[in-house]
Amino acid sequence: MAKKKKEAPLTGITVSKEEDFSGWYTELINKAELADIRYNIKGFVVYREWATITIKKMYAKYEKCMEDKGHMPLTMPSLIPESNFLLEADHVEGFAPEVFWVTEAGSSGKLAERLALRPTSETALYQMYSLWIRSYKDLPFKRYLSCQVWRYEGKATRPFFRGREFHWIEAHNVFATMEDAMDQVKEDMETTYQMLQDECCIPIIFFQRPEWDKFAGAIHTFAADALMGSGKVLQLPSTHLLGQNFAKPFNVKFIDKDGEEKYGYQTCYGPSQSRNYGAMIAYLGDNKGLILPFDLAPIQIIIVPIIYKGKEKIVLEKANEIFNILKERYIVKIDDSDESAGNKFYYWELKGVPIRIEIGPKDIENNQVVIVKRHDGQKFFVKENDLKEFIGNLADNYTKEIKEKSMIDFESQIEVAYEKDAAIEAINNGKIVCCGFCSIDLAGEHCAKVVEKDVGGFVRGKRVDEEKHEFATCLICGNPATCTVYIAKSY
Ligand SMILES: [Zn+2]
Repeated sequence: MAKKKKEAPLTGITVSKEEDFSGWYTELINKAELADIRYNIKGFVVYREWATITIKKMYAKYEKCMEDKGHMPLTMPSLIPESNFLLEADHVEGFAPEVFWVTEAGSSGKLAERLALRPTSETALYQMYSLWIRSYKDLPFKRYLSCQVWRYEGKATRPFFRGREFHWIEAHNVFATMEDAMDQVKEDMETTYQMLQDECCIPIIFFQRPEWDKFAGAIHTFAADALMGSGKVLQLPSTHLLGQNFAKPFNVKFIDKDGEEKYGYQTCYGPSQSRNYGAMIAYLGDNKGLILPFDLAPIQIIIVPIIYKGKEKIVLEKANEIFNILKERYIVKIDDSDESAGNKFYYWELKGVPIRIEIGPKDIENNQVVIVKRHDGQKFFVKENDLKEFIGNLADNYTKEIKEKSMIDFESQIEVAYEKDAAIEAINNGKIVCCGFCSIDLAGEHCAKVVEKDVGGFVRGKRVDEEKHEFATCLICGNPATCTVYIAKSY
């Protein structure tokens, strides 16, 4: 261990999450060393070690879940010829403003055809699908990529939430019928709940997005929203029912059982692991720093020896003994650096290590250790003989406890509104508004614009799970309501 000079106590995070969410998030990113925004291309960010380890764990869980559900992995080139891009009109119109183009190469100069740095892979994959898929026996055809995509974002970038390069998984599937495709959309939503709510402890609601806010080229878009501490929602994974909108221009066809050649029905799904990470740390973190689910923490248990002069050896020996007991099952580390115990506590709390074990000479005399849980600060004195079992219980329940707390918080953020004024007040208080709405088809777009302008939020769509509320009229125009929608500020 490198000997460091004793420094003044670390103060952890100095900005209050409740008072200034944005400032708090920036400080969290800097102090916990999660990302570095000093890379010299605007909107391109370096993800530091601590974040990268967790994001890799998130990828691994997601990939396993996708593969368990019948997806196979693929690796695709990052460049897409412009001619592919032009095949689906809505798609090209939707993405054109955000595409990075490669126009020159080497010393030979200008390329004959512009190449897009993929902003998403539909137009790269589907021409290959048209070569691979032949018969109904090839269906369902479920594939996914773990890759980066690039979009020239106009909105303000923020590490993990939104950047011009992001890290995601994209799944692209082909089915024989529309019904099968719709079942896939449902499966994608289940996967999202499993990964985001159960693994990352981020409460989400799935919305069917209004007609004016769907994926370019889709029939319907279903997207998960999470509510951040700022009172704004952040869009998390979305899944899209493409129908035959891409199958036709890209010739994704199969010979059906009846011998006829038919176009396939497609879906795509794009969970961004970088954004999921951002949502998770933003949602779970507190004024001491990160809070991480047990499985996703780069270090799960930190052992802090409390060293007094003359007792160094006995304390370090005991710390090592405990380390050896726990290392088989957990990612554990001893912090034997020269920092004060207080500084070590601050530091590992900032880093979100779920369990801290303190061992001092007094504890050794009493055959015990002190255990502190990061997410709620609970402290326990545990006899050495009981240690393994006690840690086992903590580890098993840690993520569930965070999730339970998250779920309670979320429902309390929704407010029902029958009048515009009440909606405005709720939005100003950082709530999600639930209200009646005339339509999420194009007919409702006018009222949605009024919502943006007057209420200060966006119509996120129609809840996909059970809807408890019914309204007689639209919040804005007073016409009969055809649906219940949710309005929120968003990133
Ligand atoms: Zn209306």
